[in-house]
Amino acid sequence: MKQDCIFCKIVEKVIPANIIYEDLDVIAFLDINQTTKGHTLVIPKEHHETYLATPRETMHRVMDVAQKIGQAQMKQLLARGVNIIINNYPPAGQVIPHFHVHVIPRYDKTDGLSIEMVEKTHPDFNLPVLANQIRKGL
Ligand code: AMP
Ligand code: ZN
Repeated sequence: MKQDCIFCKIVEKVIPANIIYEDLDVIAFLDINQTTKGHTLVIPKEHHETYLATPRETMHRVMDVAQKIGQAQMKQLLARGVNIIINNYPPAGQVIPHFHVHVIPRYDKTDGLSIEMVEKTHPDFNLPVLANQIRKGL
């Protein structure tokens, strides 16, 4: 447990949460700010700052639970879609530095969440060079 981490405190039951699921490694609970009805967070019990920094086995366990939560939201809340969002580091919108997966049920396009991927043509981006640059980091 990391001192002053709000999600570690939820794991330790020091602060309350509406827990949906819990096992040895993973816990899922309702986000206190419901972007849409049923917005859930899935986290590893172990403190890791981001998805990118989480050991593979633990990351897989979290993603496995996220899938189950999404399926349950479709079935039980009659969601018509689900967005899975992981923010990594502040420039990507991460506020709480304990890896968490947002599982957000979707009902329609005006239900509270809007994601805009701005499609632009960047003549200055050399796509083969970019692809190669990323490939080298694998
Ligand atoms: P992020 O911006 O990806 O770091 O998201 C952090 C999320 O944690 C936000 O959606 C918050 O609403 C949520 N959150 C913060 N504190 C709590 C809490 N005590 N219980 C449940 N969710 C929380
Ligand atoms: Zn933590």
